[in-house]
Amino acid sequence: MKRAQSEALYKKALNYFPGGVNSPVRAFRSVGGSPLFIEKGDGCHVQDADGNEFVDFCCSWGPLILGHNHPGVREEIFTAVALGTSFGAPTRKENELAELILQHNHFIEKIRFVSSGTEAVMSALRLARGFTGKPVIIKFEGCYHGHVDSLLVKAGSGLSTFGISSSAGVTEAVAKDTLVLPLNDKRALDIAISDFAHDIAAIIIEPIPANNGLMLQDKSFLEYLRKVTAENNILLIFDEVISGFRVGFEGASGYYNIQPDIITYGKIIGGGMPVGAYGARKELMSHIAPEGNVYQAGTLSGNPVAMSAGIAQLRECLKPGFYESLAQKTSVFTSQLNTYSKSKGYLFKVFSIGSIFWFAFTEKEKISSSEEISTESMKYFRILHAELLERGIYLGPSGYEVGFVSAAHSAEILKEAASKICEALDAVFVALPEGISKV
Ligand SMILES: *Cc1c(COP(=O)(O)O)cnc(C)c1O
Repeated sequence: MKRAQSEALYKKALNYFPGGVNSPVRAFRSVGGSPLFIEKGDGCHVQDADGNEFVDFCCSWGPLILGHNHPGVREEIFTAVALGTSFGAPTRKENELAELILQHNHFIEKIRFVSSGTEAVMSALRLARGFTGKPVIIKFEGCYHGHVDSLLVKAGSGLSTFGISSSAGVTEAVAKDTLVLPLNDKRALDIAISDFAHDIAAIIIEPIPANNGLMLQDKSFLEYLRKVTAENNILLIFDEVISGFRVGFEGASGYYNIQPDIITYGKIIGGGMPVGAYGARKELMSHIAPEGNVYQAGTLSGNPVAMSAGIAQLRECLKPGFYESLAQKTSVFTSQLNTYSKSKGYLFKVFSIGSIFWFAFTEKEKISSSEEISTESMKYFRILHAELLERGIYLGPSGYEVGFVSAAHSAEILKEAASKICEALDAVFVALPEGISKV
């Protein structure tokens, strides 16, 4: 595999950007080596600056549910661009995307478009605090909600404690308004609520936690969250920036059939362009400016080019059988890998839901909280990642990141990719044979 061009570009980039990148995970720090500079993408393939081709399972970290360069999305973008790129005034495209979403999503009645997932979450928290008049937010260890100050916080010691900042620049005062709890743990939740209910504005969760491995929650835990929040005048926020429009058009809310108070979106909603959104019932949304007194704004919010990409993508998602076909393909793919791994006694499993999957080097049958993931296991991923690049398969460069199957990944390509992944696994366990089960 040639890397000269990517390496030269990275060397240049190091002069311009901190760590050579505009978002940290892209720097390949956790897998080693220098990042590949991507030149173009088409369908499920990407090509890097050296002309290497890969089957792409990163899919821009989730947004590209139709794959790269989808003709329908591309055409809508071209048409919109020809009319001008931004007006800072309302356009029809905002209505169209909102209508498409609200008509087919029973969990929100009104929506507000912003420009990223982070912005959606930040605004949802402000709405929750503005509406309830309470300061504290509960988040869960291992859930990621973008780089919002008050959520860049990790658990302190003890079962239910106020957070400590996980990034320099986040003040103690801000961290103090966030409580961090373990996932899938009703007891910790009970304690936090009995101690602090009067101060808690909202509980935010990724209902399908997919930013620290894939940590599927028991449905009963999510239902319990709904119940205790309702009983204690606390809002429940589902951060569906990944799961929204991914596990179904109605996201995790639809998948589990649980009605949260506020839902945040990002990634898929913009068809590969920068769009985020948050939605809730009408009455709650009426607290947002200019109707209400919770201020939130954006110069490029509802950008017509980005709206057009979202419209084109979501229209495809609404076609009959779209999600069923994605889930079915993914399940064949993951079963092929799991069957192989088991037959070889490898301590490796693929966890998945819908078209999201995660490669885990573990003996566990189920992982639902961060302390069940060993940092040691990441040395296996590091080797796997390099072996896969050599075989023309691109995964996000971190063992904590999930992979995505898009509509552009055909059954044939998935089958071929699975065989190559099996080969790469063989290479991993030759290098680290202690990961092979002795029983
Ligand atoms: C990606 C992500 C975010 C942040 O979205 P950005 O567009 O990167 O700001 C927030 N929450 C979840 C669950 C995400 O996966």
